Amino acid sequence: MQTYLHSVTLRPEKCKGCTDCIKRCPTEAIRVRNGKATIINERCIDCGMCIRVCRHHAKRAVTDPLSQIRKYKYKIALPAPTLYAQFKELQDVNFILTLLRKIGFDSVYEVAKAAGRVTEMSKSLFQSLNKRPVISSACPAIVRLIQIRFPSLIENLLPIMSPMEVAARISKQQAKALGYKEEEIGVFFISPCPAKATDVRNPLGIEKSYVDGVISIRDLYLELLCYVKEVSPETIENLQKSTYDGIQWAMSGGEGKALGIDKYIAVDGIENVIRVLEQVENGTLGDVDFIEALACIGGCLGGPLTVENSFIAKSRLQRLKKHEQKHKQFINSLRDWDLSFSIQWSKAVDSKPVLTLDKDMQKAMEKMEKLDKIYSTLPGIDCGSCGAPTCRALAEDIVRGQAHIEDCVFMLRRRVIEMAQSMVQLSKKLSFPTMGQIKKENEQ
Ligand code: SF4
Ligand code: SF4
Repeated sequence: MQTYLHSVTLRPEKCKGCTDCIKRCPTEAIRVRNGKATIINERCIDCGMCIRVCRHHAKRAVTDPLSQIRKYKYKIALPAPTLYAQFKELQDVNFILTLLRKIGFDSVYEVAKAAGRVTEMSKSLFQSLNKRPVISSACPAIVRLIQIRFPSLIENLLPIMSPMEVAARISKQQAKALGYKEEEIGVFFISPCPAKATDVRNPLGIEKSYVDGVISIRDLYLELLCYVKEVSPETIENLQKSTYDGIQWAMSGGEGKALGIDKYIAVDGIENVIRVLEQVENGTLGDVDFIEALACIGGCLGGPLTVENSFIAKSRLQRLKKHEQKHKQFINSLRDWDLSFSIQWSKAVDSKPVLTLDKDMQKAMEKMEKLDKIYSTLPGIDCGSCGAPTCRALAEDIVRGQAHIEDCVFMLRRRVIEMAQSMVQLSKKLSFPTMGQIKKENEQ
């Protein structure tokens, strides 16, 4: 597994300092200084928004290459259901699962299968929680957003492992039952997004992830295409164990539908999620028991590491429901793997007070006063030419000692004019000799 804490990173050599990305980052994690963007790591939630908006491809998601699987004797693929929707005219999920075996995986455990298990457990957990609305914890970008921007809503999160993590644990147990040692087993998640890659390195609600590597759908798609001709109807293996209930988690509304909760809303797109969470925080959302919140438009189908646009992908996934009927009997007859572990969170998810100005309350208040004062002098048009997303963010950077008031072009202009005016005033106080006087002095 590659060493990084955040999957989303900047390629400085490609950055033109255009400031396109700074305004779209939901946690104001990007600044442009000295002509280059920088990401403030503590604020980044790996939502991938900056990857989408950067015209110069200066932001990217770091994931593992396929070659990484060779380090392990027994290689397991955990395909996210979003992978299925990347393929045209797909009628049988087994086709893709067979392709995964062809490119080198020894076995496949579908994340959609684990999603089915998580759905069952979520139903009973939901009933036992007093807080309403309960907020889904399936999207790690949203959980991190809540940690940073909405810490009061942490207790509304559904404290349950993601389907990816459950799939990793079950598949490792199965491999061990076949006689493989822990270190011989490599579990690889096939991911639609950088947020999941970061989640594996910095897991939420658990001590350690059982996933050994994350390969992006985009990277794997091309590899899989090379093997398409090698799979015929006769050679397709019967590997599918997921039902449509689990598969539909890939799209917005899928988890909510599978849970069967009456009063639920499905919100997709980070900006929409922020608006809804603001309403939850100020108590104006209304009668809602469950919020399925996904950072990407369309849900994971719209993840930044996918190939197909989310609308086409959704239509393909919906068509799978029809084809599922012919496999249903077979799927239902499969022996399910008993969960020998709890899938509830075992570790608290803490708030990340990266937006507070000081740990000391008194000092924080003083700094806030200073911030307000600086902000009141700024033009308030949020032009972004200072490299901060808003005038308020620049005021905050100044208070933190990370920027200067002159970074604002309007303030700089005002300072230059003031300096020029005082130079004129000063020059008036000086009595320079006239040219006539100088000439006269020279003649004497
Ligand atoms: S990934 Fe999201 S949170 Fe991180 S810098 Fe990019 S836009 Fe901001
Ligand atoms: S919606 Fe899905 S693809 Fe997008 S960031 Fe969340 S988990 Fe990843």
